[in-house]
Amino acid sequence: MNKPSNADWLARSQAAVWHPCTQMQHHVQTGSPGHLPLVPIARGEGAWLVDFDGKRYLDGISSWWTNLFGHANPRINAALKDQLDILEHVMLAGFTHQPVVELSERLSALTGGALGHAFYASDGASATEIALKMSFHYWRNIGRPEKAEFLCLQGSYHGETVGALAVTDVAIFKDAYAPLVRAATVIPSPDFRQAEAGESPADVARRAAAALASHLEKHGEKIAALIIEPLVQGAAGMAMYDPEYLRLARQLCDRHNVHLICDEIAVGCGRTGTFFAHEQAAIRPDLMCLSKGISGGYLPLSIVLSSDTIYNAFLDDSVARAFLHSHSYTGNALACRAALATLDIFERDNVLAANREKARKIAATLAPLADHPQVRHLRQHGMIAAFDVSTTDPNFSRKFYRAALDREALIRPIGNTVYLMPPYIVSDEEIGHLGAAITNALADALGS
Ligand SMILES: *Cc1c(COP(=O)(O)O)cnc(C)c1O
Repeated sequence: MNKPSNADWLARSQAAVWHPCTQMQHHVQTGSPGHLPLVPIARGEGAWLVDFDGKRYLDGISSWWTNLFGHANPRINAALKDQLDILEHVMLAGFTHQPVVELSERLSALTGGALGHAFYASDGASATEIALKMSFHYWRNIGRPEKAEFLCLQGSYHGETVGALAVTDVAIFKDAYAPLVRAATVIPSPDFRQAEAGESPADVARRAAAALASHLEKHGEKIAALIIEPLVQGAAGMAMYDPEYLRLARQLCDRHNVHLICDEIAVGCGRTGTFFAHEQAAIRPDLMCLSKGISGGYLPLSIVLSSDTIYNAFLDDSVARAFLHSHSYTGNALACRAALATLDIFERDNVLAANREKARKIAATLAPLADHPQVRHLRQHGMIAAFDVSTTDPNFSRKFYRAALDREALIRPIGNTVYLMPPYIVSDEEIGHLGAAITNALADALGS
């Protein structure tokens, strides 16, 4: 019997699997300009993915920003194999277990005890909705039910369920469903690409904060929370901004009694250089969302961490004042154990220090691109590096992606923004491989 090849899996997947974030016709219709073959993956090895024909791809975007320490990581695998024989899952209402307790304690410690209460779900969008519901319900519980509206930034992305779309400002995800959504107010982003002549990134941050201030002065009484992606707005196209914005936003939220929700789903877990991105502004949010990297990229897990003040406002004899949100797999033991193994690696390998070196290597590798006539805004925050490509070709993103695959690299631009967000185990040699793939894919995609 022949082993199935890429072509077999590709055909079966196209027929039976409805793929996310995808116009399926682009997979199915060969010969069309948008045609994009699926890549069936047989196995993963460190930073590499291997297909059924034995071709390898260096995972330059951490499999949608989730994978931190490589595919099939021996230490996370060992922890999960151990956990499988102990407890795979138990309902978290009325029950508890070792991995969920230990993970909650360790996350609390990582916030210096500021966010000491961990609420669990399975995906990032649910974490967003939980944070919004917690904020809204907090204000109702303390007798301020009029505080029921939310603020988000231009270009924000907090997930795609109907509730999370309320605070997501990416047209391609939102426009089709706008009639279903109770939209939040969108305020200017501190994205430093918007700098006017002579403005520094901190100046752009102060200008955006001034817009937030004037909105809060007029409408603060009705606003429950501001939700932000600290330092990097990922899905907007790796829009980066100065930590000054976080400091000012924190002050303004305090002044107007508005919660600050930090969505660290993409930027948390060491991605921008500190364990949490908000630490770079020396502030703490009232609520924080985590997902993606927290389980090492292994299992669906998300967490909302909350302050004592918020948590305490739900304590009462009345059940209606409790936070009754629930998911079947809340606090899944395997996912929590994967997260504990991930945190162990952070501690034992001194990952944040090692990443500083790798970030320097990435910067040095990409630096020559700054001279490319069509490259704009080469930028970086820790282990996220990005640049924009000046082209009017509507198919640039797909062409670049395919050209990178041809050069054994998984790099999937967001519109005209090319970015790297590799797993932290990427070696210097592999960074060089990604750099060469980018340079060559850029030439291919631009037809130069
Ligand atoms: C990915 C992401 C989400 C949504 O997480 P899902 O698990 O995909 O629902 C929310 N916020 C940010 C900042 C993200 O990057």
